[in-house]
Amino acid sequence: MSQGTLFIVSAPSGAGKTSLVRELIERLDGIQVSVSHTTRKMRDGEVDGVNYHFTDVAGFEAMIERGDFFEYASVFDNYYGTSRQAAQTLLAAGQDVILEIDWQGAQQVREQMPGAVSIFILPPSRAELERRLSSRGTDEHAVIARRMRDAISEMSHFDEYDYLVINDDFTTALSELESLVISRRLTQATMSQRHAPLLEALLSQAPGVE
Ligand code: 5GP
Repeated sequence: MSQGTLFIVSAPSGAGKTSLVRELIERLDGIQVSVSHTTRKMRDGEVDGVNYHFTDVAGFEAMIERGDFFEYASVFDNYYGTSRQAAQTLLAAGQDVILEIDWQGAQQVREQMPGAVSIFILPPSRAELERRLSSRGTDEHAVIARRMRDAISEMSHFDEYDYLVINDDFTTALSELESLVISRRLTQATMSQRHAPLLEALLSQAPGVE
């Protein structure tokens, strides 16, 4: 069984990353999102084991000690991390895997897996980002200003990524993401791994031909 491809997807909050990724995996077979661990509080509508594995700080730190994380980082005062098992079991089963992680995690993954494909999703404008961040629950000025600062800090790492997608029109951004996954699947390296028997059959000499 050939190994799947690891896709890293990062974005500032407000760029629409989670909705895009959710729709992408609806549309394509053979690709899954790795479920991260986090110490942040569960939000309304979230399900343990589906959105995240919710854990306490002691549990998370015990996992760090044991070397259970492929990558982890502290984001907005909470721990977030990808367990080795979550990603590698899927990859070994030939699934493509998406890690929705921040720039710190992306750096750690690139170091360990240079073949990973990294994608950064951007909002279409500063005004639109501000509008999207303002329409999330509380509209207190200081809270929005903090979210904007965090978003700008995340976006400042855009140049570490292989691909940039601008989420202005959702359908366009989705088909751009889809094209990235499909084109990665069509590279010579991936195709020749997946279709080794076909290539062998095509290239074997017909009897009597020199
Ligand atoms: P949220 O709490 O809104 O779900 O996520 C906050 C931030 O944490 C997002 O930027 C998201 O990409 C990042 N994040 C989520 N899971 C992981 C993870 O496993 N590792 C790292 N490094 N960042 C993560």
